[in-house]
Amino acid sequence: MPELPEVESLRRILVRSAVGRTVVAAKVKEARLRRMVTPDLARAIAGRTIEGIGRRAKYLMIELSGDHLMMVHLGMSGSLTHRRGDFDDAAFDARHDHVEFTFDDGSRLVYNDPRRFGLLKLVAHAGVESIVELKGLGPEPFAKDFNGEYLWRVSRGRRGAIKNLLMDQGIVAGVGNIYASEILFRARVRPSRRAGRVTRAELARIATITAEVLREAIGSRGTTFRSYRDSQGQPGRFASKLRVYDREGQPCVECATPIRAVVIGQRSSFYCPRCQK
Ligand SMILES: [Zn+2]
Repeated sequence: MPELPEVESLRRILVRSAVGRTVVAAKVKEARLRRMVTPDLARAIAGRTIEGIGRRAKYLMIELSGDHLMMVHLGMSGSLTHRRGDFDDAAFDARHDHVEFTFDDGSRLVYNDPRRFGLLKLVAHAGVESIVELKGLGPEPFAKDFNGEYLWRVSRGRRGAIKNLLMDQGIVAGVGNIYASEILFRARVRPSRRAGRVTRAELARIATITAEVLREAIGSRGTTFRSYRDSQGQPGRFASKLRVYDREGQPCVECATPIRAVVIGQRSSFYCPRCQK
């Protein structure tokens, strides 16, 4: 599943290749995504120029002329690829190319999604604050207001596991399952610890390391599991840097103790019983 680093990597690629291009035609071949693509999307987007591309949590925010935004969420298996002359179409199954935008230079931006859990939605810039998908999202992990003091404040009295707190999108936007395990390993905090019992110093560490791990993952274009490919059809490389995730029974990179797996909040979690308290 694409997480924040994958979406941010994609944003950076598209900023270089697609900003300044004008959509001359759009085609919705399959509207049944997680939310139905509205029937007027193709018509409403044609003629608009891409002026910039932002990101909020795992949503790409494609800024269009005429004060509109197209929000794109990749769901479980979506990809958005800018296909130019040298693009290898064989990397994607054409049956899952659901939405296609043709640009003024003949290149195409294609939304492909085998499992159809994604979302494409055109919204007016003015109403962006009230968009239901964005309401209630916590700060971005790179924002100044996401820090140890903030985590301290929101975790007091919380009985749930610290890992669930980190994955709560209302607390911090964009930390998924893989990265939560990695962050807690580096912070030396056990994922099952009650959030309200994690100390101020540990929370400060967790906040700093959250940004650090996500930055590293962005630098590696994210983590590839199963079929995820970025906008250029390339896999992410962060998988080779994972220290605990999916390493049950393998020796800890710090102390050689076998890594353990535990289910927390219905998600697999991995930790070193010796390094993490
Ligand atoms: Zn260890």
